[in-house]
Amino acid sequence: MRRTGSVPILAAAALAIAGCATTPGGSGVERMYVIDCGENHVKDVSRWTPNVNVGKPHVFSNHCYLVKHAQGWMLWDSGNADRLAAMPDGLSVAGGTITVFMKKPLVDSLRELGVAPGDIRHFAMSHAHGDHSGNANLFTAATLYVQRAEYAAMFGPESQKYGFVSGNYDKLRASPAMIVDGEYDVFGDRSVVVKAAPGHTPGHQVLVVRLPKTGPVILSGDMVHLQYSWSFRVVPSFNFDVQQSMATIDALKAYAAAGKAQLWINHDKEQNARIPKAPAFVQ
Ligand SMILES: [Zn+2]
Repeated sequence: MRRTGSVPILAAAALAIAGCATTPGGSGVERMYVIDCGENHVKDVSRWTPNVNVGKPHVFSNHCYLVKHAQGWMLWDSGNADRLAAMPDGLSVAGGTITVFMKKPLVDSLRELGVAPGDIRHFAMSHAHGDHSGNANLFTAATLYVQRAEYAAMFGPESQKYGFVSGNYDKLRASPAMIVDGEYDVFGDRSVVVKAAPGHTPGHQVLVVRLPKTGPVILSGDMVHLQYSWSFRVVPSFNFDVQQSMATIDALKAYAAAGKAQLWINHDKEQNARIPKAPAFVQ
């Protein structure tokens, strides 16, 4: 363990053996709630699918994922900001090219499940863009699992350069942070694993959740935005590193195939229409 200022930074190796051992293969996950965490309406989807569907509007779904593990709650991504719920016409961002909505605040969705933000002791984001970090400051009671490169970008002097709004997550600077280089097994039983998937941002990551009935599911973050992007290896030109994004897709395709894992694509509204939403859950 080392410390930066007053912030406890836990090196991944230090706690690798600390998780209570449960059955290998991930029976520690009891269920997962997929929570509606807003929508992003775009005027021209071809920013995400270069040269395809030029000028066509599109609606991206957005979700938060709440995992119930025998050892406690983990939240993956925190959605669009709850304050947007007071704006029924949404908030126009990115020079008027995107309108972001949050119909129901995340705190309300959590409350309906009997969960207060302070009950969540494990928190990770795929990356720090506003539609994933909107409510991050609610989760100061949690250990933050974050790739080293993302942590540096988030809390460095140039967070804006990466499209981050530091006001969304600045309170997490004081949180215990598990700085990850690559992979980290959150509960020590392989049931929930954060895994580097860089390219969209410097330290973008995905979450692998081994559900007891559904089997292994990879939560995409913004590694890809649409099923089309995954099938045809298409990434936005505004990604932090396009070549690295492509290499990540290739690596994750091999990983998914080897582990017979599904990819659940956060922003693909069509795919998500087939996945039960909270208060229902998946197992
Ligand atoms: Zn996103």
